[in-house]
Amino acid sequence: MALVSCCDALSSALPGNVFLPNSTTYLDASSQRWSGTASSLWPNCMVLPTCTEDVATAMQVLTQNQCLFAVKSGGHMAVAGFNNINDGVTLDLSRLNTVEQAINLRTTRLGAGAEWQHVYDKTPDVVVPGGLCGGTGVGGVSLGGGMSIFLAEKGWTANNIIDYEMVLANGSIVHANQASNPDLFLALKGGGSNFGVLTHITVNNAQLTNLVYAGQVINLLTDRSMSSLLNALTRYTKNNNRDQSAGLQTIFKLGSNGKDEVETLYGHKVGPASLMPLPFLPPAIFGDLLRVPSQTLAIAAPAPINIMSRIAQAAQADGFRDEIATITFKNDQNTIEAVHTITNDICNQMADVPNLDCFWSYVPLPEIVTANSLKRGGDVLGLDRNRIDRMIVFFSPRWLDPQYDDRMANTSVAWFNQAKAATVARGTDDEFLYLNFAGGFQDPISGYGAKNVEFLRRVAAQYDPQGTAAPGGHDVVELALSPRYSGERGYYTLLQKDQSSPES
Ligand SMILES: Cc1cc2nc3c(=O)[nH]c(=O)nc-3n(C[C@H](O)[C@H](O)[C@H](O)COP(=O)(O)OP(=O)(O)OC[C@H]3O[C@@H](n4cnc5c(N)ncnc54)[C@H](O)[C@@H]3O)c2cc1C
Repeated sequence: MALVSCCDALSSALPGNVFLPNSTTYLDASSQRWSGTASSLWPNCMVLPTCTEDVATAMQVLTQNQCLFAVKSGGHMAVAGFNNINDGVTLDLSRLNTVEQAINLRTTRLGAGAEWQHVYDKTPDVVVPGGLCGGTGVGGVSLGGGMSIFLAEKGWTANNIIDYEMVLANGSIVHANQASNPDLFLALKGGGSNFGVLTHITVNNAQLTNLVYAGQVINLLTDRSMSSLLNALTRYTKNNNRDQSAGLQTIFKLGSNGKDEVETLYGHKVGPASLMPLPFLPPAIFGDLLRVPSQTLAIAAPAPINIMSRIAQAAQADGFRDEIATITFKNDQNTIEAVHTITNDICNQMADVPNLDCFWSYVPLPEIVTANSLKRGGDVLGLDRNRIDRMIVFFSPRWLDPQYDDRMANTSVAWFNQAKAATVARGTDDEFLYLNFAGGFQDPISGYGAKNVEFLRRVAAQYDPQGTAAPGGHDVVELALSPRYSGERGYYTLLQKDQSSPES
């Protein structure tokens, strides 16, 4: 069936939920994405379901008519074609944004299309461990793993999910939990969008009031103070095994004067306001970071999570065109310094790109995350194969003019290749790539290890035999075949199932 007919068929099946390019709703929904790279694709129509049954109807129409489509929850993913599509249909879940707390406050049920900022604003009494950056969405964050400010203590967001409600390719609505579809339950904990469309999750809440000791430091760094900051980050990662109540996020930018500007946002669980320590002193784990010289701003206050997530979001401007890429290495001072130099050099080489915002972030991944993930039933990320402290780097340069897209894409690949070589040379390289930070050219799922890949392929074949359920995102089905990303921006073909994949 021709693609235009897909929109006609959807309009008949879901009257009032399908929007064409000439409508205000289409234009509004189109701009609700973090990245200009993703929002400048133009589907023939957008479907905005308001309930799980609408998603089921949409999936029946999409798969029966072999429509090309993309799925969007929070819209924070920058890779073109992952949450949007040219010429096909975009299934936009932004109206599936309910936040329902259990009366005993122990669990919260969330619509996949909700942004985490909305979740935190609605849950002032507990902490639901989700994306630290408020604009990220429930759907994408939880399917790829999910880093919260409580990553060390609670493991990944996915480790705290006790039920997934999914719509499969044939339109059936299923639940995956310990008792029902347990293989799908495990596969969804990091396996990405390979199994169907996620409509709701139920999360175990962190049992504390929504108050943390939080701080924000901005440093404008010289080479010497940079070295002490990287050293502090390396030590923090190690110490996070002991003090698991702490979390932090760093945002590095190459400032216009050629010096790094670093914003560190940190939080520490303190529980109810009555337990807040007075006088208000930073927890010891942040001491090294706070002693780094060249600070231009340092503030600390008791803050609810929703304030932290707002600050994190504000520090990461939307509307740019973006490339993203990631690397992980064993936590090591010498390696982080080498990767840092490479990143700085790459940013300097792009200095002539107008409106460039060369951004990157180091995310500590202490070994304890894996232990705490396993306590909650584990996941498919494969980190348990090697119990070490790791450091993740999220590289995400931004610019405005589309004529630089190809150059920036090549730069992103060059950054990864150089950083990888630096880690290999030091014996600190690691296979893990955080799926939610991975660029379109990267293959994060193969880094989960052969056993997990086999498992994911088997589960994908069982729940999505035609390979049509959720065509955007990093793919388990085509692993070991040609890469999914063709280089033809923003246009993906329906998955072709690898017939030689292991049988279920
Ligand atoms: C500035 C910035 C800050 C970030 N901060 C964090 C952070 O604090 N913690 C963290 O863990 N990650 C973070 N990320 C990464 C983030 O997890 C990913 O961008 C994630 O994809 C966002 O989720 P989303 O719902 O907004 O995704 P979308 O852009 O809506 O979708 C992303 C991918 O998931 C698929 N998908 C989305 N919803 C569904 C669904 N319901 N069913 C099936 N497939 C679906 C889409 O097809 C697409 O491939 C950050 C990224 C950026 C750029």
